[in-house]
Amino acid sequence: MTVKVRFAPSPTGRIHVGNIRAAIVNWVFARGQGGEFVLRIDDTDRERSTLDYEQGIETDLTWLGLTWDEKYNQSARFDLYHLAMERLRSQGRLYPCYETQDELDRRRKVQLSRGQPPIYDRTALKLTDEERQVLEAEGRKPHWRFRLDGKRVKWTDLVRGDCEVDTASMSDPVLIREDGAFLYTLPSVADDIDLGITHVIRGEDHVTNTGAQIEIFEALGGPVPVFAHFSLLVDADGGALSKRLGSLSIMDLRDRGMEPLTIACHIARLGTSDPLEAVADLQALGESFDFAKMGRNPARFDPADMARINAGVLHAMSYEQAKPRLEARGADLGEAFWLAIRANLSLFDDVKDWARIVAGPVTPVVADQAFLDAALALLPQTLDASSWSSWTNAVKDATGAKGRALFQPLRAALIGQDHGPEMGPMLVLIGRDRAGRRLSGHVA
Ligand code: GLU
Repeated sequence: MTVKVRFAPSPTGRIHVGNIRAAIVNWVFARGQGGEFVLRIDDTDRERSTLDYEQGIETDLTWLGLTWDEKYNQSARFDLYHLAMERLRSQGRLYPCYETQDELDRRRKVQLSRGQPPIYDRTALKLTDEERQVLEAEGRKPHWRFRLDGKRVKWTDLVRGDCEVDTASMSDPVLIREDGAFLYTLPSVADDIDLGITHVIRGEDHVTNTGAQIEIFEALGGPVPVFAHFSLLVDADGGALSKRLGSLSIMDLRDRGMEPLTIACHIARLGTSDPLEAVADLQALGESFDFAKMGRNPARFDPADMARINAGVLHAMSYEQAKPRLEARGADLGEAFWLAIRANLSLFDDVKDWARIVAGPVTPVVADQAFLDAALALLPQTLDASSWSSWTNAVKDATGAKGRALFQPLRAALIGQDHGPEMGPMLVLIGRDRAGRRLSGHVA
């Protein structure tokens, strides 16, 4: 069996760390299994869906490297949903209801006041043809409910293990509104069958849909896919993340300098037993991904973890990958430069600071010019990879300074600050001429 999964966003907003989790988990699972990934745009709600948001979703997925094998728009597939609707209707599993929202609310209140569960009482199922005609003559349009079997529905969830729901304790779900619009439940199942989806992987907020959807899969004669409901993200302090999601869109994270691999790695591994650290690439992420490693507890999203992973991604980035981006920032000082400074990056843009520190102008920090003069007198005319250690040894012998007292003044003069990359490669990059001027206390 070839694994086939789908990511099914509604194009009613930009993608953020909360809803990208479904895309990333589906993608890494599919790629790890050598399977296929379908992008399904759930745009049956024509008032709230926009093409701009759809394009935004594609832009974000592409930037993240989450390529799709097939793409569908639900808005172009209504024929399929009408067929599914007719099929359920002919089986007596779909029935018209005429209650207004007010009537339903009132009935629910009465049920609650009597201590009864507030589930739909199926009054509409008992209507005679004449009663229906009377209601329609009054101008009422039906909405359509799926008649649940009222049995125990079981599935083995890849994250939650053995699950069971009693559909007798649920209201028959409304599948089609009175204006004829399909709600999410039926099109999703019709598509999953039609497209041959083998695994439905989504957030645990959908667990409540799964019982009814399995009954619909069975009624439509489709194979029931495997389900996996992953835990939702919470704030680092355990609170709901929803309040902050606005500032955690993929677009914002990109603008703040997060690497695409950082986001994929962080979000795929949150709530798993795998370490929250950088991996080589998406392929490696797919290979290490396993639902068995996923826990059921809410996954804590901590921006500090993301920052740490981002640094790890940059530290492991090859010059080949970095080169076009260095060029775009006017900071391509060659491979030796990249290898010298990458371990000091938190954000890619930090390369601009290091490029300036190498190429100048740098204002040297000078506490003791006499010490620097002594050091300059010993600086070799040509510099290579071993110069820093032989030179600092010579300075140590000549001045008696050692440890921090030896290195710190040299570093502060050469790069204008007291922390930074290893000085061996930096000295070579800075070059004899600029190094000499900085050691003399001049801006260079
Ligand atoms: N459009 C639905 C959502 O975004 C898809 C849910 C599903 O994966 O079945 O929540």
